[in-house]
Amino acid sequence: MSLKSPRRAKDGLRFRVKFWGVRGSYPTVESNKLQVGGNTSCVEVEVDGRRLIFDAGTGIIPLGKELCNGSVSTLTTYVFLSHTHIDHVMGLCFFEPLLTPTSHSFILGPGASRGALARSLRQLTHSHLFPVSLDELKGKKEIISLAGDETIRFSGPGDRPAVKRGSAANGNGADELRVTTCKSSAHPLNGVMLYRVHFKNKSLVYATDIEQQEGGYPEIIEFARGADLLIHDAQYLHDEYASRTKPRKGWGHSTVNTAVAVAVKAQVKELVLFHHEPTHDDKIMKKIGREARRLFRSTVVAREGMEIDLL
Ligand SMILES: [Zn+2]
Ligand SMILES: [Zn+2]
Repeated sequence: MSLKSPRRAKDGLRFRVKFWGVRGSYPTVESNKLQVGGNTSCVEVEVDGRRLIFDAGTGIIPLGKELCNGSVSTLTTYVFLSHTHIDHVMGLCFFEPLLTPTSHSFILGPGASRGALARSLRQLTHSHLFPVSLDELKGKKEIISLAGDETIRFSGPGDRPAVKRGSAANGNGADELRVTTCKSSAHPLNGVMLYRVHFKNKSLVYATDIEQQEGGYPEIIEFARGADLLIHDAQYLHDEYASRTKPRKGWGHSTVNTAVAVAVKAQVKELVLFHHEPTHDDKIMKKIGREARRLFRSTVVAREGMEIDLL
């Protein structure tokens, strides 16, 4: 199989992250928010000649169109879901590769048993909600439930990823592309999956929809330890989180301050604030970025279209 990749580096050694959707909870289209962007969670990682996609919020829709907008006959994508809350899967049925017969998509995400993730996703296309069932969408697909504490490896392009229990040696230090998983219960009701992508001694951690305790959860700090890039939920300002009239405690999201505390403790090289509160406009987001950088210099606010090269 050949992989369509218009931006693939000649040497196949690219490790690039692109943000296609950075909002939490629901998409927003107001003009004062579009510098940061209005689509919900979707992050593309182009690595070792493969496309890894984290979450299928509305950001996956323009990504899918770009992937299919070429002449290559076969396309393989790997979609890793943090969980199946609607803001993380609402773009899935409009993801062009799932509508294209020559495409093959592997969809991986948390599931308590072998078929659990597929059963959850089928609810998206219940006949009262969508005119076509997930199984009827023309693109080839395989849905793989994950339990957490796994290592996922890739052989040839287009091959089924191999999932093995155990994520030992989670830190940097390996050349080969692999993804490790960590299931966290810090998100209501069924928890969330965190992912770490490793390649050529570099790594990034995708950790959205987690409500950190004060100072961060030790197991998440360990999972992120030493990463080159930490993409972390930072939905709320401290004042919103601790508000007297409408406290957000228990809603499953971190504050900017707790995201920074985790980055510092885990000694990551760079922090990306992610899953932005949809009511925060561009002015507020600029202020958040400035204040976070005062606490941790290497912090950026995720915005749609932003790309970061890790190699
Ligand atoms: Zn979310
Ligand atoms: Zn959620």
